[in-house]
Amino acid sequence: MKYIPYGRQTIDQNDIDAVTEVLKSDWVTQGPSIQRFETALCDYSGAKYAVAVSSGTAALHCSMYALGIGAGDEIITSPITFAASGNCVLYLGGTVRFVDIKPDTYCIDYRKLEEAITPRTKAIIAVDFTGQPCDMDEINAIAQKHKLAVVDDAAHSLGATYKDNPVGALAAMTIFSFHPVKHITTGEGGMIVTNNKMFAEKMRTFRTHGIINNDDRLILKEQAADNENLELSDKNPDTRSPWYYEMQDLGYNYRISDIQCALGLNQLKKLDSFITRRLEIVQRYNEAFEKSPYLVTPHQESDRSSAWHLYVLRLRLDKMKKSRREVFEELRALNIGVHVHYIPLHLQPYYRTTFGYKRGDFPEAESFYDSALTIPLFPTMTNDDCERVINSVTKVIR
Ligand SMILES: *Cc1c(COP(=O)(O)O)cnc(C)c1O
Repeated sequence: MKYIPYGRQTIDQNDIDAVTEVLKSDWVTQGPSIQRFETALCDYSGAKYAVAVSSGTAALHCSMYALGIGAGDEIITSPITFAASGNCVLYLGGTVRFVDIKPDTYCIDYRKLEEAITPRTKAIIAVDFTGQPCDMDEINAIAQKHKLAVVDDAAHSLGATYKDNPVGALAAMTIFSFHPVKHITTGEGGMIVTNNKMFAEKMRTFRTHGIINNDDRLILKEQAADNENLELSDKNPDTRSPWYYEMQDLGYNYRISDIQCALGLNQLKKLDSFITRRLEIVQRYNEAFEKSPYLVTPHQESDRSSAWHLYVLRLRLDKMKKSRREVFEELRALNIGVHVHYIPLHLQPYYRTTFGYKRGDFPEAESFYDSALTIPLFPTMTNDDCERVINSVTKVIR
């Protein structure tokens, strides 16, 4: 029987046609599809500005750069996330502090935020784990009180809503990933959306080596009289030459290609239908597993809708004869692509040795990790695939 992965992309002929169009055009890297994709995601998410980059990780790095994060600064995030949510802080020399998760939604527990805030804290990276938005009102209120920025790591939650507002309009900056297991794909890719023009401009420069052309330099000069680098460059006679460009800061090559954005733009048109199909599968899973004495199904808050990136079951190991490892291996043997999201970030060797984190530091996250099991969820799963997953899980869980 065929292997059912935990997630996969949905690409059809009109996606392929969209990409082929670009391949035949004059632009394969910095062409018109990039801005079109950015504009389309602004429209979708209700944000004013968007910056498309080469990955979700690059998007997170850009957002930390825009906030001016550097050595000595602390950023708070959840331990139940992908490594990139913390690494983006480390790239700039900052420090990651974790706050434990809520035992029901597995998202960061806002009730524990204030005890982790210090005079060095600059921002909170809220991770919408599995696709359900975090408690954004509470998180934003705490951030406002302590003058912190909020970045929404929405790699799981493109298309979700919170109190009728789309994800993208809930934080100072929101980042998306277009990796093939996420809701829509560009192969590799990511985007930041924001209502803050200055953040957007900084991130645009950061994505292309920190280099600006002369037109941009003159515009920047009008806006920011206190930029020393701009004053310095004004003393250079070269600045009046037509070929002039300058590197204002140390940036990266985080550009995304026109080929990728043509795919992303076409995928975005289908996002709502992808989420509808994900929800159908989720409802079937809920029905099948809700009454099981061995399983805890995902908890949904009533004031928000998840984009359902992942379907994570919790095993009630105290009631079971089998270990999570046995369940995992038996399901893999049945070609069910189960997975575990995530090993808590504070327990990764790099974080342990760099910051001295250890087991016991974040008990809710650790107990969640010990019992979590991700089962397959993606739009092209057939009803038969879905029943096969349900039957296999039901058979194996004891
Ligand atoms: C996927 C993911 C990222 C990183 O995205 P890439 O596009 O793979 O770099 C960041 N945060 C979370 C929570 C993710 O799931």
